[in-house]
Amino acid sequence: MKVLKFGGTSVGSAERMKAVADLIQDGEAKIVVLSAMSGTTNQLVQIAEKLYQNDNKEANALIDALHHTYKQVVDSLYTSEEKKKQAQELLLHHFDYLRSFTLDLFTIHEERAVLAQGELLSTALFQFFLEEQGIPSVLLPALNFMRIDENEEPDTDYISKNLKTELDKYPNAKLFITQGYICRNAFGEVDNLKRGGSDYSASLIGAAADASEIQIWTDINGMHNNDPRVVKNTFPIAELSFDEAAELAYFGAKILHPSSVLPAKQKNIPVRLLNTMQPEAQGTTISAQSGRGSIKAVAAKDGITAIKIKSGRMLLAYGFLRSVFEVFERYKTPIDMITTSEVAVSLTIDNPKFLSEITKELEEYGQVELDKDQTIICVVGDFIAERSGSGLKIFESLKDIPLRMISYGGSKNNISLLINTTDKERALVLLNEGIFERNTNNA
Ligand code: ADP
Ligand code: ASP
Ligand code: MG
Repeated sequence: MKVLKFGGTSVGSAERMKAVADLIQDGEAKIVVLSAMSGTTNQLVQIAEKLYQNDNKEANALIDALHHTYKQVVDSLYTSEEKKKQAQELLLHHFDYLRSFTLDLFTIHEERAVLAQGELLSTALFQFFLEEQGIPSVLLPALNFMRIDENEEPDTDYISKNLKTELDKYPNAKLFITQGYICRNAFGEVDNLKRGGSDYSASLIGAAADASEIQIWTDINGMHNNDPRVVKNTFPIAELSFDEAAELAYFGAKILHPSSVLPAKQKNIPVRLLNTMQPEAQGTTISAQSGRGSIKAVAAKDGITAIKIKSGRMLLAYGFLRSVFEVFERYKTPIDMITTSEVAVSLTIDNPKFLSEITKELEEYGQVELDKDQTIICVVGDFIAERSGSGLKIFESLKDIPLRMISYGGSKNNISLLINTTDKERALVLLNEGIFERNTNNA
């Protein structure tokens, strides 16, 4: 069994959906995980914002506009009048459901139900298309088996057990279609795996089904050595280890959801990143094996806050760091980077939700300074293998960029640097020229 996930652009139009149907017909058993059509989740977020604001007029206008777009997709996706009618009825059902939220109190629970509509629509429309083409397939409702627990972590036992129950209902089926991103939470309510979460769904489903391979089909030919949205002349990397890929995903390489590597790593299932627009391209294979080359790639994660706690008196006393970490634990706020000195400890967080509460509690232990609008630059590779020289290239490339924190040695795969977000673009370009010797001037 293989798991194939197709992202928003890969199912972003009637044409793209037809191309996906062509890619999945080799007769091998597979579970196909679909995202919402590109742009849909962003539009649902906007609709939810208007509903929160009680701006029903604007919410209805946005819902009508999205409904109109989908009507056009239906018109060009199907050939028979019967399927078109069936699909238009399906649209009416989903869009009337969205309209019903303008009549009621709107809370986070309703918001999650709104956000789930994108994947429910794309999979239902795709299943209708397969039916029209006479391709046997089964639509599996992800809400019957994907679940997160009270800590918002995937409930892997539940997922395995319930996915198996769903699959066992169709002993002769080979092709299953399901929704990425959406799940239920510990209270049984509709929830989601956060933005970009369809990759995570695919990886969790792959691990639950003991898949032989997980394929993430997107709009680029694999993981590139640098952020292609910021830097010209980037190139795909043929092979990455699970750890290298996990670091890149966590530190900002948008091609993969930050948590999506771990479930595959735990079951040692290779993950291939492939391009729907260029299916013959090699892409990237992520496995237990690392590819050649010491420095593989660079990624950047924005929205970071650096917190410095200065306490000459207490820093080296044992128990001090524990007290500091406990503050973050109490507010369920993960720490990304940490550096220490004789008189101070600096750390970074990417979720500022409880920043003022955290700051207040930390002030009991010393003087607290905050730097907002920071970016972590993460350089990923096999640094032990090279032993010397890789640090030099990085620091030489960045000699004109102020570095706020440096983290090296946490793992053999990662050197992280904290800089001002205003310097990010320049830093990524300089690293592309300095480490990968790419000319970024004219591409
Ligand atoms: P999908 O909708 O298929 O999930 P995403 O937009 O989430 O696609 O992810 C693919 C995009 O990730 C690419 O189009 C690219 O702009 C961006 N990206 C950022 N960093 C990288 C990287 N290092 N390698 C490849 N793509 C990257
Ligand atoms: N549709 C969701 C999003 O746009 C999930 C995904 O595409 O992975 O974030
Ligand atoms: Mg994505």
